Amino acid sequence: MESKSEAKRAHCLLIPFPAQGHVNPMLQLMKRLEHEGVRITLAITHFFGKKFHKVPTSTTLEYISDGYDSGGYDEAESFGVYMEHFRQVGTETLYELIEKLDRSGNSVDCIVYDSHLFWVLEVTKRFRIVGASFLTQNLAADSLYYHVKKGMLHIPLLDQSVLLPGLPPLAQKDVPSFLYDYESYPDILHCSLDQFSNIEEADWVLCNSFYELEQEVAEWFRKTLPKLRTIGPTVPSMFLDKRLKDDEDYGCALFKSEECVKWLDERRKGSVCYVSFGSYANLSEEQMVEIACGLRDSDCYFLWVVRATERIKLPKDFVHNSEKGLIVTWCPQLQVLAHEAVGCFVTHSGWNSTLEALSLGVPMVAIPQWADQTTNAKYIMDVLKIGLRALSDEKGIVKGEELKHCIKEIMESEKGKEMTRNALNWKSLAARAVEEGGSSQKNITEFVNSLSTFGA
Ligand code: UDP
Repeated sequence: MESKSEAKRAHCLLIPFPAQGHVNPMLQLMKRLEHEGVRITLAITHFFGKKFHKVPTSTTLEYISDGYDSGGYDEAESFGVYMEHFRQVGTETLYELIEKLDRSGNSVDCIVYDSHLFWVLEVTKRFRIVGASFLTQNLAADSLYYHVKKGMLHIPLLDQSVLLPGLPPLAQKDVPSFLYDYESYPDILHCSLDQFSNIEEADWVLCNSFYELEQEVAEWFRKTLPKLRTIGPTVPSMFLDKRLKDDEDYGCALFKSEECVKWLDERRKGSVCYVSFGSYANLSEEQMVEIACGLRDSDCYFLWVVRATERIKLPKDFVHNSEKGLIVTWCPQLQVLAHEAVGCFVTHSGWNSTLEALSLGVPMVAIPQWADQTTNAKYIMDVLKIGLRALSDEKGIVKGEELKHCIKEIMESEKGKEMTRNALNWKSLAARAVEEGGSSQKNITEFVNSLSTFGA
């Protein structure tokens, strides 16, 4: 990897939140920073560290503790308890880590931390180092949470549409689910809002989006939080600008088999529907059955990621590994989305999946489950026009018939072709944002340059 002279290299400590959808974008940002000559130490929790099988050889791996070293947050009695414990134990172990690095002559110049670990900023202030909060969601969801946290938008949101600067009018079904269903997940709502509790004091706020994608809300944020910069999409360079060497998809740390890529190789261009609900979503058995029916009736080829814990919910008679379908427990998603056989992505519209699909030019059927996925689905269908949001019934279930209709619309109709063209247009804009001179690349360079002047 190309690098600037050793003498001038800033040293950044990167601290992701220990969940796949947060670690993946941090790892991609890490590679971009390394390419700019920054020396990186990655600090992860002991439990999440067990899932890592590889990091770039140039990266130093260190550990902090969330207080649940053997089981992670599944061990905690609630998410709120987990976050509070993480704050206490994480602060102590982070202090120890920074002091250890100092003693070994590797003093830290900057910490880039997941915005959900907002308390890291207090540690950076104590050590007088740069603190950069990393928002892994899109700016639209960030804006909604920010407005609520700062008392400019009040929950519960009743049935009126939400009008905020730089955003399209949003109905209740379009705002992050925690903002109206706030009594079901109070801990997660607080955690989402707390990202913004001290954001004004951060030296930098980095966001996993790109200017061209969310121009209007990006402009609004730049006035409100002048230190905010878009640095995305955090999709491996090999799929976008191809500037970075040593560019393996380290984010796909859970999976090594090439089975599905081989299977895709045997299918014709645009004939496969890829289906995945990310690393966390927990669909009801009824919903799984409806998806199975929708896939069967749409009569397309499908590659469906069903995590091992979800497999029991598949209909007993569902023919998998048949000529039409392949079911796997995990897959190299970027490689799959980049494969020319894939013509449609049925997704829970998590932000990483959404960004990855649009960066690879694949149109989507969005079946959002919760959190910001609802807002992403609104963008997919009505703002970016790169897919459809499947309609759900009064119980929140998307029926097989509806899924079949959406898949056929995308894969067979004129409207679907237009969505594919739009997605391909976003693909080239995404690549342009991260190439030399692109909006995100300029922001990364500005951030890195600031590190060499900090404290000088
Ligand atoms: N992912 C993957 N293989 C899979 C399913 C998911 O590599 O079989 C990756 C995907 O590429 C994305 C992440 O897991 O980077 C999921 O993040 P997202 O924000 O879409 O959803 P979450 O898991 O946070 O709900």
